Amino acid sequence: MKKPKTFPEQKQELPGNEHKMNPEPEIIRENYTGSGKLLGKTAFITGGDSGIGRSAAVHFAREGANIAIVYLKEDKDAKLTKEMIEKEGQQCLLISGDLKDEKFCKEAVKKCVSTFKTINVLVNNAAIQFPQNELEKITAAQLHKTFETNIYPYFYITKAALPHLKEGDTIINTSSVTAYRGSEHLADYASTKGAIVSFTRSLSSMLAKRKIRVNGVAPGPIWTPLIVATFDKVSDFGKDNPMERAGQPSEVGPAYVFLACEDSSYITGQFIHINGGELVGG
Ligand code: NAD
Ligand code: MG
Repeated sequence: MKKPKTFPEQKQELPGNEHKMNPEPEIIRENYTGSGKLLGKTAFITGGDSGIGRSAAVHFAREGANIAIVYLKEDKDAKLTKEMIEKEGQQCLLISGDLKDEKFCKEAVKKCVSTFKTINVLVNNAAIQFPQNELEKITAAQLHKTFETNIYPYFYITKAALPHLKEGDTIINTSSVTAYRGSEHLADYASTKGAIVSFTRSLSSMLAKRKIRVNGVAPGPIWTPLIVATFDKVSDFGKDNPMERAGQPSEVGPAYVFLACEDSSYITGQFIHINGGELVGG
């Protein structure tokens, strides 16, 4: 009998690498024209080395922001992201470390502030997932790791960043379509993504009087390293939505710009659903 994969042996224990993806994801459309929407701002993005976070980072840079990026250990991807940001004429600070550790989260925020003096846009975005088709296979170790990675750092980083945020600054949290419709093979991951929706709504009302807006993005299937690293079969990834295809990071990044800048000045506590047409409530 074939031995089932046990949690620590899963290949997704290692982060996915964007520079090894085939086809390569599109990060920003060539014809995306910046118009200074984030001129002079500083953005702090967790998981900004690759995928959706990288796309948000490069779009922000094209709109005039400097960027600090936190990532686990994908140095090569992070270096490429830094180069993309510098190509936009902006600065990029790379911070490698484990967001599960609150002390590291505090240090990462401190590094950003000592380099750029401020934080104006905070993007909580890092996550992992470990697909399991049966509930019994979700071990306590997996459950802890998923919650400790996907939701606790949203609290740690936001707590550390808040003293630096002022009126007009924004927070954007990455959730998922799975928060809204559930997922039969990602029950623990989907639960963390639901927690992110509730966190976003709670924080938006807490911070409304400080005129700091808090919104989120709930992506559907997007072609990123997370997908390649965690799903065995990717050939029909995203084919089951109305548009019958996966989305590219370049189709997600502009939503982060909208939520980060003044264009969304009367929007807080809300989510933008970028999922190829799947209708979800909220
Ligand atoms: P990604 O793998 O490119 O990005 C996730 C990043 O999180 C990694 O690059 C990694 O550096 C970072 N990370 C993970 N654990 C960490 C830790 N302990 N400490 C520090 N950094 C850590 O994948 P992505 O698809 O771009 O994911 C970005 C966000 O989008 C996640 O919140 C994910 O849940 C969400 N999302 C993705 C999809 C999709 O189809 N790709 C769908 C819905 C939601
Ligand atoms: Mg990565």
